[in-house]
Amino acid sequence: MDKRIMSKIGEEVSRLGMGLMRLPTGEAGIDFEAAQAMIDRLIESGVTYFDTAYFYHNRESETFANKALLSRHKRDSFTIATKMPLNIVRDTGVTAQAFFDAQAKKLGADVIDFYLLHGLRGASIAESEQLGAFDVLRKMKKDGRLRYYGFSYHGTTEDFPKVLDSFDWDFCQIQLNYYDWAAGDAKPLYEAALARNVPIVVMEPVRGGGLANCNAEVTRVFKDANPGASVASWALRWCGTLPGVDVVLSGMSDMAQTEENINLFSPLKPLTDEEQSVIDKAMDAFRKLDLIPCTECNYCDKCPQGIAIPRLFKGRNDVVRFGSSFYLQEYKKTEPPEKQVSACVECGACEAICPQSIDIIKRIKGIYAAL
Ligand code: SF4
Ligand code: SF4
Repeated sequence: MDKRIMSKIGEEVSRLGMGLMRLPTGEAGIDFEAAQAMIDRLIESGVTYFDTAYFYHNRESETFANKALLSRHKRDSFTIATKMPLNIVRDTGVTAQAFFDAQAKKLGADVIDFYLLHGLRGASIAESEQLGAFDVLRKMKKDGRLRYYGFSYHGTTEDFPKVLDSFDWDFCQIQLNYYDWAAGDAKPLYEAALARNVPIVVMEPVRGGGLANCNAEVTRVFKDANPGASVASWALRWCGTLPGVDVVLSGMSDMAQTEENINLFSPLKPLTDEEQSVIDKAMDAFRKLDLIPCTECNYCDKCPQGIAIPRLFKGRNDVVRFGSSFYLQEYKKTEPPEKQVSACVECGACEAICPQSIDIIKRIKGIYAAL
């Protein structure tokens, strides 16, 4: 297993990390036996970085980590990362300190190796201060109950430097993959962290599974270049090749993925220049797809019916790009009936303001009918 010493903090970690958010499940939740077998195999192969969070698996992931990892494997053979859910701290009135204590207990960990503020954004820096989260990080480190503090990020590119500069972070966790590098905002996030020497842990290297299951044209590019390599392996190797990326987290869901990932990182073969050009070709193929040109500018958010138009377009584009209807299904599940597309009164306000001149009414009705 490839290992690396994280810059700034000097901690040795495995390049491959296990994300405990997409474990195999059955009717009763996490399929404990199958998931535990994966943990055992990862430990055996030399993986040392395991990442969980309060929210994962309906709040069962930390308990699983305790039973399958912390209670069963030598404590110096791995590191555990978990995250404080700031919104729950805010909404429940439980103090940040009480939250940390409860998480440590749930994990069965006297010491949490990597502790993150979950989904920190520019707007939540002041709130974190107010909730005492920064004080808890400082105190717990001083008391030896956590070793390194960091944050995970899902906010805007503009706010990221503010978040990086808001505290003396030991590391950060960001979404990074070749698609978001070329077509999204991953590159400036990476560059900002690198410029400040803040070690990087990567999440979503396969974009929630989307880059394992690309459109047929994109898949053809990869298969022509190397018929034996899986489409997902390109995404993982791309991340691992970037200098400054210490850990690549993968939310493995079965033993086959686990074995493939172990193999890919034992040791990781960085992409050659020729292989990098295959990624460029794949992005060219992505760009040729018939996508709705929504830039998510949100100018249409004044829809009198409150219909989340960009959310629908992102969902539809994901079906075309990645064969994933996850976002569309989420839209249907989470938007109240009065905000579903069926509530559209065809007033035309959205089309009048859309800078991309998208025929919104026809498009959203088509997407909804297909749902
Ligand atoms: S046409 Fe439909 S989607 Fe567009 S603003 Fe009016 S109600 Fe909203
Ligand atoms: S105004 Fe047009 S481009 Fe902007 S979010 Fe709405 S649909 Fe997308």
